[in-house]
Amino acid sequence: MKVLQVSAEIFPLLKTGGLADIAGALPAALEAQGCDVRLLLPGFAPILSDLRRPRKVRELHTPWGETVTLRSGQLATLGVKAYVIDAPALYDRPGGGPYEDAQRRPYEDNCRRFALLGWAAGQLGLGADRDWLPQVVHSHDWHAALAPAYLAFSRGQQPRRVASVYTVHNLAYQGVFGPHHLGELGLPGAAYSIDGLEFHGQISFMKAGLYYADRITTVSPTYSREIQTPEQGCGLDGLLRARAGVLSGILNAVDEGVWNPATDKLIPRTYDAQRPAGKARCKAALQAEFGLAKRADAPLFGVVSRLTEQKGLHLVLGGIETLLARGGQLVVLGSGDGWLETALQEQATRHPQSLAVRLGYDEALAHRIFAGSDVTLVPSRFEPCGLTQMYGLKYGSLPLVHRVGGLADTVVDCSLENMADQRANGFVFDHFSAHDFELALRRAFALYERPRDWTDVAERAMRQSFAWSDSAARYHALYQEIAH
Ligand code: ADP
Repeated sequence: MKVLQVSAEIFPLLKTGGLADIAGALPAALEAQGCDVRLLLPGFAPILSDLRRPRKVRELHTPWGETVTLRSGQLATLGVKAYVIDAPALYDRPGGGPYEDAQRRPYEDNCRRFALLGWAAGQLGLGADRDWLPQVVHSHDWHAALAPAYLAFSRGQQPRRVASVYTVHNLAYQGVFGPHHLGELGLPGAAYSIDGLEFHGQISFMKAGLYYADRITTVSPTYSREIQTPEQGCGLDGLLRARAGVLSGILNAVDEGVWNPATDKLIPRTYDAQRPAGKARCKAALQAEFGLAKRADAPLFGVVSRLTEQKGLHLVLGGIETLLARGGQLVVLGSGDGWLETALQEQATRHPQSLAVRLGYDEALAHRIFAGSDVTLVPSRFEPCGLTQMYGLKYGSLPLVHRVGGLADTVVDCSLENMADQRANGFVFDHFSAHDFELALRRAFALYERPRDWTDVAERAMRQSFAWSDSAARYHALYQEIAH
């Protein structure tokens, strides 16, 4: 089975969120299933420079008249074969991120920058590489969402019918652009229709993916149902309901080569469910690193997150007084909305012994926080899958979450009945309110006061498996349904 994976990010080369973790782990997991996997990635500097034995596949002339070079080789860090679009004018933007400049403004030419990604996938479907033709093109999120449209409109010219899968990692980021871009995309006028990629007079990359893909997946079963409702459908719930027959939820998994406290080189002491002692050392080290009071008995809460409206962090902000009054400590790592950054920092200045905030993006510190904390807070308003609650589970940092999306699929509240059934692994609140969040905090404190029960739950959490083999087998089965 020849599968082309198309995404804008890939861990460890370029990451702004969970998409990169998935794009980085899925190829090897699919190869273990017997798939012949190649990646298609934009030529951002860290990606291009990781490409070993690069070969020029061919020059491509974009529909808007630019010439770019498609290269192939092997990514040194991942050991996976990849095509990389070498287009410095579009992708080489020192100082900025992949989507935004240093001032966090989206690049003005994002429409072209990411149309190119989908278009290049379409070209590979047309046989751009004489040596390798994909049977399935699997594209991820809005950046790659035009791929199914280009494939659908070039079916007649393809050497063999190329099937498409489109995965929604977050429906809220849609890639919507003005209709004047249509002429440059190289898609027929028919695409600009309610039965196509038109969305309230605009062009929606997300809608193109949802409309033209042979199969749609999302990253958890619950989210696949939620996005079919007006509350969480972001204006696309009607289309998603119409396509419910080809829509499914496949839960993300954890890359245990990266996230495993028994082998993690980024944490001060390794540990696991059988030998949990190292966790206390990690906690003491985290307290020392942030100048928090060195108290083994203070439950330490951790947040590793983008600081955005979606992540529900105003609940954490509002709950700080309660958390600290009950004797807890809090470490926050994140970056995002200015007002949240400022408000969190102000609180940290007020409570230096018990609250620490680190603004920015720091992969190694994220590991130390999961290892050193007792509870991982993920109170998201909505959450397609969420990875940090799964990392929390693996590291014995019990997740405290809002019952939504993938959080609902992975965390079981420490209610008495769930404790009795030996299913509990964290704390779950139903209503997205300060009141319910604080009740969940209280349950965390109550359990913490019963060390034997806490240890039972934490050990169960650490033993839980979120193996990629299960998720990859599901994707593989999906490819088999549609491949020619
Ligand atoms: P999302 O993709 O919506 O941001 P996920 O939970 O799916 O949320 O994935 C977030 C990923 O990004 C996780 O790997 C998490 O550890 C990481 N992450 C988020 N913020 C930071 C940060 N400030 N520093 C380091 N890693 C971070």
